[in-house]
Amino acid sequence: MELENKTIIVTGANSGIGAAAARLFAAEGANVVLGARRAAPLETVADAIVQAGGRAVCLAGDVTDEAYAAKLVDLAERAFGGLDGAFNNAGVVGAMQPVPDMAIDNWTDVIAVNLTGAFLAAKAQIPAMQARGQGSIVFTSSFVGFSNGGMPGMGAYAASKAGLVGFAQSLASDHAAEGIRVNTLLPGGTITPMGGENDPAALAFIAGLHPMKRMAAPIEIAQAALFLLSDRSSFMTGSPMIADGGVSVRLL
Ligand code: NAP
Repeated sequence: MELENKTIIVTGANSGIGAAAARLFAAEGANVVLGARRAAPLETVADAIVQAGGRAVCLAGDVTDEAYAAKLVDLAERAFGGLDGAFNNAGVVGAMQPVPDMAIDNWTDVIAVNLTGAFLAAKAQIPAMQARGQGSIVFTSSFVGFSNGGMPGMGAYAASKAGLVGFAQSLASDHAAEGIRVNTLLPGGTITPMGGENDPAALAFIAGLHPMKRMAAPIEIAQAALFLLSDRSSFMTGSPMIADGGVSVRLL
């Protein structure tokens, strides 16, 4: 049990990487507090964890809403007595277009969810972790925020995901002495709705960018997140940890 009795917020928990992480963390002994906008699939994930003998609660909302970030922390404290970790994983890819064709609204929306959402999450979570005297925060970045890897039309998404790396490093520096670790996880292409799971041509294209010639299953990324949230990574903070099937070192 890598997360025995730790209480962990997981956002983006009704789908893809976040749902796999919610199930894995609960199976590893965590109390999980799950968030995403669509309530029905979120409740389905939480119910399945409870049916399997785990401990899960959920609250639907939007990570761009400051009040929602605070409500998730309140829920963790009310349901389980405190907060030990957060996998701030909710994200959107937005329109994939060259920047000259991109509407400002697309830029603003992608930055709001992926980067401002992370700011609001950390702002709410860090005081709860300070009260606990420890904590681990993980933000889901992307290989696209580090190496691009050959993905077209990623201007807004790449900026948001690269921004997370610097944001996490600043938090890591500010809060390390308080026992709070902050890292980013940079997945490669992963078979989820965002990763094009219902689009065979997209899956084949993305798989082909990776030296492994395949995409990740969501559980493979969840396992990397588990490592960063657990005490196994006790000397890691400010790290952009890459789990990308080698896409960032591919030869063009
Ligand atoms: P996904 O299955 O589409 O999941 C995205 C999750 O984010 C959903 O649970 C979605 O739920 C939630 N979400 C989106 N906007 C939200 C908002 N404004 N407020 C609250 N929740 C919101 O995609 P995924 O691949 O698992 O993505 C998870 C993370 O991995 C993202 O940050 C993504 O950028 C990153 N990533 C993905 C890949 C890939 O190839 N799949 C690669 C690298 C990084 P609702 O729509 O119900 O809100």
